[in-house]
Formats: sequence, structure tokens, C-alpha cells
Amino acid sequence: MKLYNSESRRVEEFVPYNGNVVKMYTCGPTVYHFAHIGNLRSYIMEDVLEKALRYLDYDVTRAMNITDVGHLSGDSDDGEDKMLMGAKREHKSVLEIAEMYTNAFKSDCEKLNIKWPEIVIPATKCIDEYIKIISTLLEKGYGYISHGNVYFDTSKLSNYHRFGEQNKDDMMVGVRDSVEEDEGKRNKNDFVLWFTKSKFENQALKWDSPWGVGYPGWHIECSGISYKYLGEYLDIHCGGVDNKFPHHTNEIAQTESFVGHKWCKYWFHVEHLITNSGKMSKSKGEFLTVSLLESKGYSPLEYRFFCLQSHYRKQLLFSYDILDNAKSAYKKLKQKISNLTNEGDLQKESFDKYVTTFKDALANDLNTSLALTILYDVLKDGELNGKTKHALVGDFDKVLSLGLMQKDEKTSENEDLGIDADELATLIEKRAQAKKNRDFATADKIRDDLLSRGIRLVDSKDGTTAVKA
Ligand code: AMP
Ligand code: ZN
Repeated sequence: MKLYNSESRRVEEFVPYNGNVVKMYTCGPTVYHFAHIGNLRSYIMEDVLEKALRYLDYDVTRAMNITDVGHLSGDSDDGEDKMLMGAKREHKSVLEIAEMYTNAFKSDCEKLNIKWPEIVIPATKCIDEYIKIISTLLEKGYGYISHGNVYFDTSKLSNYHRFGEQNKDDMMVGVRDSVEEDEGKRNKNDFVLWFTKSKFENQALKWDSPWGVGYPGWHIECSGISYKYLGEYLDIHCGGVDNKFPHHTNEIAQTESFVGHKWCKYWFHVEHLITNSGKMSKSKGEFLTVSLLESKGYSPLEYRFFCLQSHYRKQLLFSYDILDNAKSAYKKLKQKISNLTNEGDLQKESFDKYVTTFKDALANDLNTSLALTILYDVLKDGELNGKTKHALVGDFDKVLSLGLMQKDEKTSENEDLGIDADELATLIEKRAQAKKNRDFATADKIRDDLLSRGIRLVDSKDGTTAVKA
């Protein structure tokens, strides 16, 4: 597999530390609000990555945190604790907010066919791990205590910026813990490992520590959880591009100083979903959720299809017009698949050939739009019988997860046509075969019989569909 590695800024051959065993870590959501469809773009593409790795025979273990403490928002609103902001907004406790939005996120993932990683850990469950790491960092001289907080000393590292120097604007967008305001820092990029002298007197969640009662910084949670559950060698770490700095830069600083060697081999960053007014973000207040799309008549899998049409390293522009196009393409695709018969013997050679092409597309830095093109190629290949097409669609959907084999009442028009879907599919297939054998009399008879039942067949370069006459 070839993957773009944000650290080297090159497409590289993917070689895990240990044979085909892959340890994969994903930065989870901050559960102070619903996930917006931008966040979910990242999770959809990370899900495709995990499934592609499995499809390519890697043995993947994936862990994800749930950020329920320590994530401050320095971007636009003076560095308040995001969980507290959520709790205040909804007149609930921080724990209630965390539970509610974790469940909402889980339900969004289910609707979007995003596999829930086998290890999902709320940040508040690993406090001992952070304390252990911070203590070691202090012992090794990478940390210092100042103004009551524990900080990481970035001046101790010769190569702190791992994803390239960030330009000033990017740094400001990424900064989440009010760099400028904090007088305790010795260097501009230093960051908090443990807050004891909280800026927020009403901080809800606090724990005892060797440095006083307090709570962990945001970055240490991902270092702690990945170390605890995946060990000291990580193969691949994922997140949206805004996570590169400071979050992932700081994760590397902490973990490598703690373990004493290189930690993560590959960094997979998903570009943003944007609208005409810029990046979609929770802190802007107005954002689109999966439920909102549903209320407007879009199914979550139509949104997944929309995401898969583009490469993960390109920004993706969202508008309802573009989503409408994806919706109608998805509907047609499902219709074509539901019209397939399951007849004939599996054409093993052709099956293998298509699987190889599909694998090549995935192995080419996760080229999902090419993978979809191959799916279309299968559907319009006149040499393939129904059985083989069926088998290939089912196989590809292990990665695409577009519910392609599910008979969807809403998207199937066969019901309205007053004919059983299998019967229609058989007739379409028989007609295609007849045409191929130049038996036009039979082909025309099938078409005319259907017409007399109020069903018109429409031929296009992509195959045949049935509509009301
Ligand atoms: P958060 O809940 O803010 O911690 O973000 C969850 C994930 O969504 C992170 O990996 C972010 O990098 C990612 N993310 C945030 N905004 C966007 C966006 N507009 N498009 C794609 N991914 C995003
Ligand atoms: Zn993280």
C-alpha cells in the first residue's frame, strides 16, 4: 500500500513496524456538541482507510479517544473549557453532556456505516496513565512547573515542528490553549501537560496528582491512550488537518520524549470539508449535522457516497446542489444493483481481475473515486454475468460500506412499478443476453411485454433501468 505521510510530505510505501500487524490511532471527537458533517468526513475517510487495510490483508487494531476533558478553545473564544461551555449551554453536568454527545456520535457513525473502533476510551478514564507519563517527562527534564501548571518544554527538542513550519495564520487557527495569554510558559510553543492552577475556577472534573488537584491537558490524553492500548510503536495516526498543529505536533513531542525513540511511522490527515463561507467548525455555532441532512431528505449513506467521490487530501466543497448530484447518482447506482440477477456461475478469472484493480486503487493512497469508477466498470461490463457482478459489488462494499447490497425500500422504484425486483432483474438480464446474441426478436418481446405492463426500459451506456411508462 502507498500512503501519503504528512510527516515526510511524500507518498510512501506503507511498511508497519511488525509485518502485517497495524496499530492505528484516531483522534476522537470532543463531545461538547454534535459532530458536524465536516468532522464526519474525517471519520468516514479514516473508516475507509481501516477497511482498506483489512481488505489488503493487514491485521488492524484501532483505538480512539473520546475527549471529555481538557480541550480548551483558544481559537475564537478566549480559551474556555469546551465541555464546560457545552454544560452551561444545555444546563446539564459535564458528564451528562459527555454521555449525550458520545451517544449521538455513536449513532451518527452507525448511520454512516463507520465501524466503531475496537478500543474507544473516554479521556477521563486514563488519568493514572497521564500522571505516569508526565512524571517521567519531568524526571527526564522535558517538563517544568510554572505558575502552578505543568508544562512541556519545547526548547528541549531539536525538531519540534514535524509537519513543516506552520505559517502564522495556520498556527492561530490550530492553537487551542491560549498560547499568548499564558504567562507561565517559558517558550511560545510550550504547552500544558497538567493544569493545577486552573484559569476556570468552576472546572467540573478534577483529580488528585503529585502537582495538586487539577486536570490533564488535551494533548496528553492521546499520547496516554495510544501508549496504554497500542504500545510504544504506532503504525498510523489519523485526524483532520487542523490536528497537525499543535495537537499532533505536541503528541509526538510528549510520546517520543517519554518512550525515548521514534513513535508513529505514518500520519494520515484528512482535508477539511468547507462551505462557501469557509471551514465548517463547531465553534462557529452554525453547522450541519447528519440529523439535519436527514430532516432535509438526504440519507446518511448519500453523504458517505458524496465523501467517497473525492480524494481525502483535497478540500471538499459542500453545497446542497453538489449533494443533490451525489444523491441522484447514489440512487441510480442502487437501482442498477437491485436490477442485477444472481444468475450464472462465478467467473473466477474476471472476479480476480477486478478485485486486483480495486485493490490497486485503494493501495494508491486510498483513491476512493477510482474505486467507485471500478464499481461502475463492473456494472457495465457486458462480459460479466449477474452472479459475478453481485459477488464483486458485495466484495467492494466491505470497504466502501455504502449499503450497496441492501434492498432499500425508499430508493427502490420497483415497488412503484408493480413488479417484483427479482423478476424485473431477470428480465433485464435475459434481454441483455438476447441482444448480445443478436436475438433481437426475444429482446424486443421482453421490452414490449414490460411496456404492456406499464414499465419502460431505458438503455444508457451504464446499463438498463426501468421507469414507469
Ligand atoms: P473535534 O471534535 O473538534 O476534536 O474534531 C474531530 C475531528 O474532526 C478531528 O479529527 C478534526 O481534525 C476533524 N475536523 C474538524 N473540522 C473539520 C472539517 N471542517 N472537515 C473535516 N474534518 C474536520
Ligand atoms: Zn488526539
